[in-house]
Amino acid sequence: MLAFIFIPVFGLAGLALYLLPTIIGFRKRNASAIFALNLLLGWTLVGWVVSLVWALTKEDIPGVAVSPAERPPANVVWTCPTCRGVVASNAPFCQGCGMKMAWPGAVNRLNY
Ligand SMILES: [Zn+2]
Repeated sequence: MLAFIFIPVFGLAGLALYLLPTIIGFRKRNASAIFALNLLLGWTLVGWVVSLVWALTKEDIPGVAVSPAERPPANVVWTCPTCRGVVASNAPFCQGCGMKMAWPGAVNRLNY
C-alpha cells in the first residue's frame, strides 16, 4: 500500500498527505464515507483523487443556512472564526476561506 511507502519516507507529512481528503472532508456529512474511501482505495491514486474531490464538494449543511431576514444588518462587520478575515454580515460565505457563515452562532462581532 502506498501509505506504507509514504509513512517511512515522508513521516507524518506523508501520512497527512495520504489522509488529506479525510482532513478536508472532516466536517462533511459524508465524512466517514470519505474516510473509508480514502483509507481503503487511497493507495490507488484514483481512489485518493476521488475522495479528495468528494471532500472538496460544496455541501449545504442543514441548520447552518439562515434566511436573509435572520442575518444582522449589512453595516455590521464580523471576523471569520476560521481565518480571522473580515466578513460583511450580509455575505453568506467568508471571502477569505469560503467558510459558510452561521450568523446566529457567529460570536466575534466587531462594530465599526
Ligand atoms: Zn474565513
